[in-house]
Amino acid sequence: MDKLDLLFPEAVGEWTPDRLLPYRETWRHRSPEQLLEWALRTFSPIALATSFGPSGIVTMAMVARLRPQPTTFYLDTGLLFPETYRLRDQLAEQLHLQFTQITPELGLEAQVEQYGEALWASQPDLCCQLRKVRPLRHFLASQQAWITGIRRDQGGSRATIEPVEWDYAHNLVKLNPLAYWTREQVWDYIREHDLPYNRLHDEQFASIGCIPCTRPVTAHEPERAGRWAGQVKTECGIHIQPDGKVRRV
Ligand code: SF4
Repeated sequence: MDKLDLLFPEAVGEWTPDRLLPYRETWRHRSPEQLLEWALRTFSPIALATSFGPSGIVTMAMVARLRPQPTTFYLDTGLLFPETYRLRDQLAEQLHLQFTQITPELGLEAQVEQYGEALWASQPDLCCQLRKVRPLRHFLASQQAWITGIRRDQGGSRATIEPVEWDYAHNLVKLNPLAYWTREQVWDYIREHDLPYNRLHDEQFASIGCIPCTRPVTAHEPERAGRWAGQVKTECGIHIQPDGKVRRV
């Protein structure tokens, strides 16, 4: 053991679902900042994922305060809104971050050649596989843990997430520090800390992804109703476990 191992013995050795299990209870009701502080000194390499949504902004602001230049990545499908790229640049400047851009192997033109126009309309699951799920899997293969901004109150398969879980799809530790936060808490934090946000939120967009699969919502619709509207699909697949269920450590 070196000096660092003696200071943080938790950080030593391989992580498995069994080893992680006791931490689920420990971290369930602590603050996101406490969880992030523990996670950043326990797991290495560790990366923060963002789609530049409000929860991701809060999480990255918390992480940026704890560690200079944390690994922060986003999945660039090539179909993001110009407003999203503007927000990326604002966040990079304000929080002193350098974003890692993860891109699909298949460019958009090659996708059209191989699968035809508008794969997102004809086979959205395949489109998400090619543009999000596979690139993420490839990137996470080099990580010990990843941090997301997903929350229980976003509903669907997210309704039962825990702050600390084992990600069976990618075989690593997954941390959801805002799991028990509400949408209101997230927006309060953004206002209190004067953080930038995607200006499309001022035009009734609640959850913002790729241009072809995102529409504004009415005041009475759930947060994610504007994603893949009119389809049964509710998730791109990066937060779904391999057996189609959400298995928790
Ligand atoms: S969200 Fe839509 S456009 Fe983006 S990768 Fe998925 S199906 Fe394709």
